[in-house]
Amino acid sequence: MTDEAPQSAVNVDAEDQQWAAALSTLDTGTGFHRLLLDGGRISLTLCRGDTRSTLSQQKLQADCVYLGADFEDAAALGALVKCCKRGTRLQYASALGAPDSNATLALSAQGFRATAALQWVFDPAWPIQRSRQWPRPVWSRPQHCTVIGAGISGASVARALALRGWQVRVLDGQGQPAGGASGLPAGLVSPLPSEDNGPLSQLTRSGCALMRQHANALLVRGQDWDASGAWRNRTDPPAGPAAGAPQWIPEAFWLKPEAMVRAWLNTAGIAFTGHARIHHIARDEQEWVCLDEDGREQARSSVVVVASALDSARLLATADPAPCVREALARLHPRYGGVSIGNAAGLPPFPTQPVQGHGNFLPSVPLAPKLGQSWLAGASFEAQLNADTQAQHRANHERVARYLPEVAAAVAPQFDAAQVQLWQNQRCVSHDRLPLVGAVQATPDASLWISAAMGARGLTLAALCAELLVAQIHGEPLPVPARLAKLVDAQRLQRKMA
Ligand SMILES: Cc1cc2nc3c(=O)[nH]c(=O)nc-3n(C[C@H](O)[C@H](O)[C@H](O)COP(=O)(O)OP(=O)(O)OC[C@H]3O[C@@H](n4cnc5c(N)ncnc54)[C@H](O)[C@@H]3O)c2cc1C
Repeated sequence: MTDEAPQSAVNVDAEDQQWAAALSTLDTGTGFHRLLLDGGRISLTLCRGDTRSTLSQQKLQADCVYLGADFEDAAALGALVKCCKRGTRLQYASALGAPDSNATLALSAQGFRATAALQWVFDPAWPIQRSRQWPRPVWSRPQHCTVIGAGISGASVARALALRGWQVRVLDGQGQPAGGASGLPAGLVSPLPSEDNGPLSQLTRSGCALMRQHANALLVRGQDWDASGAWRNRTDPPAGPAAGAPQWIPEAFWLKPEAMVRAWLNTAGIAFTGHARIHHIARDEQEWVCLDEDGREQARSSVVVVASALDSARLLATADPAPCVREALARLHPRYGGVSIGNAAGLPPFPTQPVQGHGNFLPSVPLAPKLGQSWLAGASFEAQLNADTQAQHRANHERVARYLPEVAAAVAPQFDAAQVQLWQNQRCVSHDRLPLVGAVQATPDASLWISAAMGARGLTLAALCAELLVAQIHGEPLPVPARLAKLVDAQRLQRKMA
């Protein structure tokens, strides 16, 4: 299934190369795979698996359907119809010859009308059920949008919208982008492997694959990111799949989030305004107005995406969120952490790839010009901000000692001589530690959206969350199965509150 952004001119040769590059970064087993082609202007969503169950996990309104040879099953046709809107064109693959009378009858029974040889249109004589219309392409034509927050969440949404032709203004209270948690000097993008390949493993693997495509396309390898892989090395209980021998995670990689944020914001159609801390959002007829503390208007647009981490709760409290979103926002909380950073030059050979244990250890990242080639060790996950820098360093050092004792011994002199720097910030964490993504209001024409609460996995999940959010806004194919999208849906508490 493909969805093309309007007016995109495709350079076929370049596209072939991008295909190859994008596919080489993916594990193209069964499941959903989102490939960004032609500089992200074309999204290809590759869904591999049983047709009926795959289609039942999609939420889209197809413009056109090509029916292949293996599309015989009536139940699969029923699932396909749920992805059609009135007017969806259906082209029967000509190599199959004309559909037999059974297939013709099945198509008619589902509401398709023949328009020419091998061509049909979905135009049932009966009203289409509401359930078949979800999600509506709420803003299918590009509009103006304000994104509040220029961290990795906000910048990824801005990029995804701008590539679809939107004009996006990104506001941030800080003077520069990535002034919050996304200012992390370098972090690990990594799936969370599990023996049963559970939902979080699938979600993080998809997020990882998407972020890797962005890094590959926009950043300088070896300087802003590297396809390093990582070792997962948990040494103590609880025993289970994570314990025991180190596990190699080839999809993992280190990344400088600030570089990613800046690259995303550098997309045509995006304007960044710093020193614009939004105090509240107000409705003015058909538009949202973003106002600062002095009541000055900072932006006005038909759509607003709030990506201001913890402050999202305060900002949205007065914007009439759906009760379940209000509840989720009320449960957002901070988790503080710090990363110790030391000089990697002249040390005995470390493991050359990052290691995940009770935190992450990145052995060698170029943090030039100030810090040079550096190692990074982190990070705590505390309910309270710890103002004692030395205590934080000690905790990080002890953490490394648990899963990399030789490394801990090698860097000990740097800790002792106070040659280690600390970078600290707060994560925004939700009630179930998963992001909040989607419409803030319960109305079908929602114009206020959120992408926040990335917790300890923002580098891994932000780009996927942005794709999910714009898929909902535009009625595009979902980048992950609907059951995974539900896990991060901003309105997921509704099911518990009902
Ligand atoms: C020590 C530490 C280590 C980490 N390591 C990793 C790692 O290895 N891998 C990983 O995946 N994740 C890691 N994380 C988590 C990751 O950094 C976050 O999940 C991610 O950066 C969150 O991005 P964000 O855009 O949602 O929030 P932020 O980056 O915090 O951005 C929110 C932005 O909103 C702005 N803002 C807030 N309120 C307003 C307002 N009212 N008006 C205007 N602007 C506003 C802020 O200035 C800020 O720029 C780590 C976090 C910490 C603290």
